[in-house]
Amino acid sequence: MSIQTTDIVIIGAGPAGAVAAGLLRQQGRQVVILEREQFPRFSIGESLLPQSMEFIEEAGMLQAVVEAGFQYKNGAAFGHGERTTEFDFRDKFSPGWGTTYQVQRARFDKVLADQAEKAGADLRYRHEVLQADVQRDKPVLTVRGPDQQVYQIEAGFVLDASGFGRVLPRLLDLEFPSNFPVRGAIFTHVRDHIPPDGEFDRHKIRITVHPRHTDVWYWTIPFSDGTCSQGVVARADFLAGYQGDDTERLKAILAEDPALSRLLAKAEWHVPARHIMGYAANVKTLAGPGFALLGNAGEFLDPIFSSGVTIAMKSASLAAACLGRVWDGEVVDWQKDYAQPLKAGVDTFRVFVESWYAGGFQKVIFHEHATPEIRRMISSILAGYAWDRNNPYVAEPARRLKVLEELCSA
Ligand code: FAD
Repeated sequence: MSIQTTDIVIIGAGPAGAVAAGLLRQQGRQVVILEREQFPRFSIGESLLPQSMEFIEEAGMLQAVVEAGFQYKNGAAFGHGERTTEFDFRDKFSPGWGTTYQVQRARFDKVLADQAEKAGADLRYRHEVLQADVQRDKPVLTVRGPDQQVYQIEAGFVLDASGFGRVLPRLLDLEFPSNFPVRGAIFTHVRDHIPPDGEFDRHKIRITVHPRHTDVWYWTIPFSDGTCSQGVVARADFLAGYQGDDTERLKAILAEDPALSRLLAKAEWHVPARHIMGYAANVKTLAGPGFALLGNAGEFLDPIFSSGVTIAMKSASLAAACLGRVWDGEVVDWQKDYAQPLKAGVDTFRVFVESWYAGGFQKVIFHEHATPEIRRMISSILAGYAWDRNNPYVAEPARRLKVLEELCSA
């Protein structure tokens, strides 16, 4: 079998892979992206955070994203029974982007992948990575192409951006269980027919807490074409209590919330719902000899704060910076220079996710007398600025949030 060679192989052309490719092409590297599917393809993860715009811009893909006409987004609205509150990301503590988009991922991922290709990446759709050997001087991947031909490719470095495919964690025995309980989501796209003159703000994701079960929540993500992504997240045992196909189960759970039922009263269910279960995942290490794991191929926490794409792009940015230094002849310590900085922000989100499900952060969100300065710091976290250590809730998330929860419970 002939062996091809290149500087960098990226597994997966999702947001992590495409942004990494754009950045590495700016450094003049040869980049091959191996993508199992043909794009456009469906993906979950449709509400972006403003922090992600910085990485899209850095990768030279901003103009294409802006011109694609996605739904403008400036914040998040929360509802629980009669209580509602909202955060405007333009009013936040950290500097940087305060607005972003809600995107149909099939199209968004294609826009980014096209930009990576335009920048000179060799993007190969329907090429699936089957095996990986990282014990040699340089890693070698075994790949099956669309014609079923199997070939090998040797790279100076491999970035695994295969998302829930988790290629290297599976092949190299790096998988590690997440400490979150097994949750799942049922979701679809609807033609929402939400009246434009009502209280619903299409510029915000809407998170609705289930009226009786505070660890169950719904997302409503409006798009620019009159459709919405509508989903529910709950523990696996809760979802298992509903009968029928996914559309029937989703409708039954939605019907339990009066405000959402009113909002979607005229919705047309034109796409069958689907589900995803047990998505929380972790790994033993984010980097090893000749490889690093990006985005969901590394750790995935939970969808509650829409942080997945932002973390994926942050990992791409950090990894590309490390590879740039290697290129310049520097010695890079991948644990210290890649894994630790990435995990710092992920761990900030983790504190907020755990507190959300325990109920404390919900009290903070719905508290009526929060000071504007604290709301601006919380707004920053919700906007994805989980790496800004000037924000006290990033510098010391667990301690600060605990104090705030106690104040909001009093
Ligand atoms: P992906 O986008 O998954 O891309 C990986 C690519 O790798 C895919 O195209 C796949 O085909 C390819 N691949 C897989 N295996 C192979 C192989 N063997 N060979 C070659 N290619 C391969 N995030 C948000 O930011 N906002 C949200 O609102 C949000 N909502 C979510 C809701 C739910 C229920 C869940 C579960 C997640 C949500 N997320 C959200 C998270 C988001 O889906 C992911 O974090 C994000 O897609 C990760 O991007 P990625 O580039 O790492 O991987």
